[in-house]
Amino acid sequence: MKPLPLPRLDWTQGQARNRDHDDPYFSRADGLAESRHVFLDGNALDTRLAAAPRFCIGELGFGTGLNFLLSWQAWAARAPAGAVLDYIAVEAAPLSRAQLRRALAPWPELTPLREGLCAALPPRHAGFHSVEPAPGLRLLLLYGDVGACLPQCRARVDAWFLDGFAPARNPAMWSPAVLAQVARLSAPGASLATYSAAGHVRRALQAAGFAMEKRPGFGRKRHMLVGRRDATPCAPSPAPWFDYPAGGDGPVAILGDGIVGACLARQLAEDGQAVQVFGADDGASARIPGFLVRPYPEATDSPASRLYALAFARACRFYARHVPAAFSRLRLGGQEGDLPAASLRPAAAVTALLEHPLIRRQRSGPCQIEADGSDWILRDEQGQLRYRGPRLLLCGARPPAGLPGTWPLRPCAGQVALTADAIEPAFAGKVHGFTVAGRGQIGSSYRPGEEAADIRPAESRQLLQQAGLAVEPADAAAGPRTVSPDHLPLLGPVPDLPRWARDYAGLNHGERHRAFGPGACLPGLWLNLGHGSRGATLAPLAALQLASALQGRPLPLPADLAAIAHPGRYAIRALKRGRDPLAD
Ligand code: SAM
Repeated sequence: MKPLPLPRLDWTQGQARNRDHDDPYFSRADGLAESRHVFLDGNALDTRLAAAPRFCIGELGFGTGLNFLLSWQAWAARAPAGAVLDYIAVEAAPLSRAQLRRALAPWPELTPLREGLCAALPPRHAGFHSVEPAPGLRLLLLYGDVGACLPQCRARVDAWFLDGFAPARNPAMWSPAVLAQVARLSAPGASLATYSAAGHVRRALQAAGFAMEKRPGFGRKRHMLVGRRDATPCAPSPAPWFDYPAGGDGPVAILGDGIVGACLARQLAEDGQAVQVFGADDGASARIPGFLVRPYPEATDSPASRLYALAFARACRFYARHVPAAFSRLRLGGQEGDLPAASLRPAAAVTALLEHPLIRRQRSGPCQIEADGSDWILRDEQGQLRYRGPRLLLCGARPPAGLPGTWPLRPCAGQVALTADAIEPAFAGKVHGFTVAGRGQIGSSYRPGEEAADIRPAESRQLLQQAGLAVEPADAAAGPRTVSPDHLPLLGPVPDLPRWARDYAGLNHGERHRAFGPGACLPGLWLNLGHGSRGATLAPLAALQLASALQGRPLPLPADLAAIAHPGRYAIRALKRGRDPLAD
């Protein structure tokens, strides 16, 4: 993936000016005082942050990060213990670290936070990037054009900073379509502030659904604008069936104690949510010595490759932070060139991830699920009740017995060969080799349709041959996995299929442009299943996606990428073709 172009900057008296837009990043008089006056005071942030256990700020134009650093500073000084702050910012031309340091140099008091931001900044690639510069503080950077990024965002913003260069010089940041997205993403009663007092901006914001007010501006500017979201309805969602329902309240349980369940449990715990984890500890994570973590090597710019590129970046940050001893970066040479990748020792990673005061692990063996009123129930093989509660997250390879509906997941067991000694990392076709705990691991084979994870010596020899290694296998390991027809997992809420069949029948009757309602889902039940052989790569991003959904926080995945993994995608395809979604 190519980085976005760097902004072209001029520096006059130490102040950054953007040459492409011919506009400065902030007031020449005193950028910091202007930011505080317009954006923080304009949104009454000091008072609101002090009272909010959870708060979300949205910004159009991340620029140098000055507004972000001031918000972080105010939040750190005032927010109650355990509070979380989400900060979403759109930026088409992210500054380099060097540009950012230079632009913020006039304010040495911000140096520690500025360095915290620089350490967390993602690569300057188009797409959504979720990073955590400090505990409780999540920064979701939407790199790309505002018109493309905002429709993909799913969040409830409490306060907006509209800071996208002067409307006269940069109308794209103030267009009715962009402001309609600002309104769509606003929580009820959300506020906004901008230094602009232009009449057409005020009218456009009123048309988008904000009650607007003029206030004294900063310095030589007579006026600025603040606004509050009123009850004006928003444009309907283009694919309402894929919008997630509210995350609900109450205890959370996870069924599945492999790497996918462990990442989710740890993410929830890191976010302050207590969680119980149930499982049999006998999946691929317990049996295969090493998992490969890597971006999608097959295609260049498909949605799936964008998903796995984001997932790979997230996975590297997550594992390096939480399980550094079980994680190593490597580069795979071979026919496909030099690919960035990493290896994970899943058994050690699972143990370490689940060691957290907010996680309670129970080795329950396989469980089946049942619905009972608004609760979900887990029963073990002896029929004993293990869990009853409103929120249940199903993680791992196989769907458990009792999961309502039929799901297009097929078993596809596979095997890796192990050598006596270490090997050089290698990648040949679908076979990869790397060293785990001092031994070479070469894998893996695919047995489509097969559940049995037995060891087959002939398969080991074939794997070594394919990898071009002239050694005898010393050992082997095999594990279960499942794949879907499009090789993407089932990640998201569980559609109530009989209701979808009724509510969306019009999709096949030329009614595609009708405003349909949101998809009815089974309350409190979420899937994170069928990752095939890519579970270790996607697990940390899938965990962040579901944990955010459960907590009502901004979703880290753009809506188009969440849709390709949504459990209801097969039902929607069937409905559009006039087929019964219950039969597929
Ligand atoms: N809030 C920033 C700060 O604290 O430093 C200053 C933002 S600066 C005034 C405006 C920013 O909007 C620039 O960084 C620019 O690259 C970005 N921008 C301009 N047009 C854009 C567009 N169409 N999509 C996304 N970002 C855009």
